[in-house]
Amino acid sequence: MTLSWRHEACCGTARAGTLLTAHGEVQTPVFMPVGTAGTVKAMTADAVRSTGARMVLGNTYHLMLRPGAERVGRLGGLHKMMDWHGPILTDSGGYQVMSLNELRKLDEDGVTFRSHVDGSYHRLTPERSIEIQHLLDADVTMCFDECTSYPATHEVAAKSMRLSMRWAKRSRDAFVQREGYGLFGIVQGSTFEDLRAESVQALTDIGFEGYAIGGLAVGEGQEEMFRTLDFTMPLMPKDKPRYLMGVGTPSDLIGAVARGVDMFDCVIPTRSGRTARAYTSTGVLNMNNARHAEDLSPLDPECDCPACTKHSRAYIHHLFKAGEMLGPMLLTWHNIRYYQHLMAQLREAIIAGTYAETTAAIMAKWVEGPQAQAPAAPKPPRVKKTPHLADKEAPV
Ligand SMILES: [Zn+2]
Repeated sequence: MTLSWRHEACCGTARAGTLLTAHGEVQTPVFMPVGTAGTVKAMTADAVRSTGARMVLGNTYHLMLRPGAERVGRLGGLHKMMDWHGPILTDSGGYQVMSLNELRKLDEDGVTFRSHVDGSYHRLTPERSIEIQHLLDADVTMCFDECTSYPATHEVAAKSMRLSMRWAKRSRDAFVQREGYGLFGIVQGSTFEDLRAESVQALTDIGFEGYAIGGLAVGEGQEEMFRTLDFTMPLMPKDKPRYLMGVGTPSDLIGAVARGVDMFDCVIPTRSGRTARAYTSTGVLNMNNARHAEDLSPLDPECDCPACTKHSRAYIHHLFKAGEMLGPMLLTWHNIRYYQHLMAQLREAIIAGTYAETTAAIMAKWVEGPQAQAPAAPKPPRVKKTPHLADKEAPV
């Protein structure tokens, strides 16, 4: 039996279920912390697990360059190497090749690029990407694809998507089927309805254990992302897991789960944790801000993580001011715990049939940030939109 997904409840188009993998079960909707180079940065695997996280993501691109896929294989695979015994999803390397390499060369067969580590030349094809993910021992392997840049013309997006569909077939042919393992196809087509539909059709004709939506969260903005999900999600198979790649902020997750997405990954909680940004039940805090210097209250009184139960905002502020590594460690821990708690709340709300009310209550509490301290001068009326956590406080 390959990797599968069991549907358990729905509320509108939001779904709750369980992903069944070779390394255990995972309740969905699920947020996967990103463990780029064989580690969720600043966290031990036990610490990641203590946040409630049950599945993590590894990056093919980074691991193939260092320490090398064959070496990870000889070390017993990624689970053993990083002491993570739950399921792992690996990306295909395509996105990083496109985003981290200016000197890449794309052809029908694959991509040639130079390592950002030592300048050496490497080549990724669908067959090699699948082979690498096999060596890493990924429970979920992703098809090798070209992530279409944004914005793209219809012509460019169509050409790119059709290349990815040919690569999806080659990825399927190269994938070695094993008990509890699966291969996900990636829907492309930028923000064009006809191209997304063509891509879903091409992938379902091939057949995959799950389907991802790629090419979003690349600068199109939340409104355009939701619009694309609105016409793409109804086309996707209902009995398979759906994964929105690289998303997102808490309000992105709430909106995408409402539209039927089951799986997410994003660097926001971990990267923000290293740059003093805390996601809390009352909004986003910049812990570098001097207003926290003598604040003895917890980061988030509703959170049960060590940063919130053992320390004050003042101490965390001090750690960042002093450049102590414990600052990023505590804030990463907290942010991952916040995301896991949020996903658990969403799942409970789906099962209880109260998704709209629960998410409205969660978003209504997002008031913390500079504007909560000193109300801004009146602005011209704006079109009402979904509260966006990232808007609440200026970037560090
Ligand atoms: Zn916390």
